[in-house]
Amino acid sequence: MAESLGPRLYSCSNCRNRVSLHDDIISKSFQGRNGRAFLFSHAMNIVVGPKEDRHLLTGLHTVADIFCADCRKVLGWKYERAYEASQKYKEGKFILEKAMIVKENWKKNWFFQALGDETLHLLVPMSLVDWFGYWT
Ligand SMILES: [Zn+2]
Repeated sequence: MAESLGPRLYSCSNCRNRVSLHDDIISKSFQGRNGRAFLFSHAMNIVVGPKEDRHLLTGLHTVADIFCADCRKVLGWKYERAYEASQKYKEGKFILEKAMIVKENWKKNWFFQALGDETLHLLVPMSLVDWFGYWT
């Protein structure tokens, strides 16, 4: 069976515009406005809004909201500048909120799907999960 799976992508949850690649994730342990958020080195098909200074948990940052280029929904924000030395690695990187994006091109193992995300993380080493093509 010829299966043509492209790279694993994330799309806008509202209009399915493709906004980022799984391979560009730097960290999955960020906090967004609506729960968990991912830090990406790149994002595509987005519009960057005006810059503003925000006091975040990790100090003062200059950030800009990012919008889906198709439907203009807010997806997260871009770190334009970090003032603390320890936070400099975020500069030029993108936060996409997990609640605002959906997976595309992800092969899901029926067993893991049935098990659910939370149980899965307790039971199965992530390297094994990734081997099966499943990731949360
Ligand atoms: Zn959209």
